[in-house]
Amino acid sequence: MAFKALGLSEVVLRGVAAVGYSEPTPVQLRAIPLILAGRDVIGSAQTGTGKTAAFALPVLTKLGLHGKCRCVVLTPTRELAAQVETAFRDYGRFTDLRTTVIYGGVGYGQQRIDLKAGMDILIATPGRLLDLMEQGDVRLNDVQVLILDEVDRMLDMGFLPQVRRVVEKCPKERQTLLFSATIPGEIERLAGWALRNPEQISVGERRLPAATVTHAFYPVAATQKFQLLITLLERTKFDSILIFSRTKHGADKIATRLKQANHSVAVLHSNRTQRERIEALEGFKSGKYEIMVATDIAARGIDVEGVTHVINYDVPQHPEDYVHRIGRTGRAQKVGDAFTLTTTEEAEHVNAIERFIGAKIPRLQLENFNYTATAAFHEDAGAGARRNVTMARTSKGYSFGPRRRR
Ligand code: AMP
Repeated sequence: MAFKALGLSEVVLRGVAAVGYSEPTPVQLRAIPLILAGRDVIGSAQTGTGKTAAFALPVLTKLGLHGKCRCVVLTPTRELAAQVETAFRDYGRFTDLRTTVIYGGVGYGQQRIDLKAGMDILIATPGRLLDLMEQGDVRLNDVQVLILDEVDRMLDMGFLPQVRRVVEKCPKERQTLLFSATIPGEIERLAGWALRNPEQISVGERRLPAATVTHAFYPVAATQKFQLLITLLERTKFDSILIFSRTKHGADKIATRLKQANHSVAVLHSNRTQRERIEALEGFKSGKYEIMVATDIAARGIDVEGVTHVINYDVPQHPEDYVHRIGRTGRAQKVGDAFTLTTTEEAEHVNAIERFIGAKIPRLQLENFNYTATAAFHEDAGAGARRNVTMARTSKGYSFGPRRRR
């Protein structure tokens, strides 16, 4: 679904096109229509999901033309305040709406001048905003939309009392949007007090590169690998799966056995003729084959729309290959799953991958699978090692790499 269908104004749509977004992210899809309809919203969405545009675009649309200060955004840090301001300016570049940002740790002079010049949207950290309000430099009497961003961080930093004071200074008749990655009790209470009949939106998937992929390791004995693969396939709802094998011979063997199990399978590796490779790729793209088994080299750079799952039958020996492989899925913001079958012999490569991406990958166990050896689950017990879940799909939200901020 395109941005056009969401009800944003023409000028805002031009701004969106200028920054180069082609499709709304999940949080944008959910939030934009609600915000345009005037609803209060609690969004449990993290940075990286596109939440800034999720509130900025409808607010810019609603404000329309330049006037009084009608929107206030509270953020925990000056970095985030500056970032949110840049976003408003970027998206609103074809409007005549004005934006001002104020935060602590710098002089008051310029901020007073900026406030005097007038703005439609004010982005601020709570402490400095209260200071300037007390000194009479800014009033919130005309605020129509109040946005509380990253409230969990404001809570951590002890800012909730200031946030409350700012809320109290806003008109009662207003729209309030609250964003927070987590909603602990205190934030729920704040929401109960500051918001009116809010709609809840929860979006776990991040939009950072490859972060739309949920990935997991499935420890298993080497002798049970194929059986586990077949069981995974049975229990997974997929459109198209790319399976990686370390060797060409291995790829052929997996393909043959999958065919015997009534799957439609293509094979891609460098021992096949160019014609065979083209046929495999085209067939996979068109949906003739639901599964493609490939070696790394063959699969580098191929861009197949809609690959929903990647399965590493063998643990990649180079950590970069892991990243490339799972990059085949989760493209263009679609959510994809990446499963890696791991044996104890491959522990070294497993560790190398986790070091490379800077994150622990959960170990999952298939329920009701007749494991012959359980050593793999216990020996390097990460938090996920003893989890007992049916499929990786149930473990949404593991992010790829350390938390990054843009
Ligand atoms: P945020 O969660 O607001 O910090 O946004 C994370 C990143 O995603 C930012 O770099 C945005 O510019 C980018 N972004 C937001 N929405 C979209 C979209 N619809 N398409 C592509 N990129 C986006």
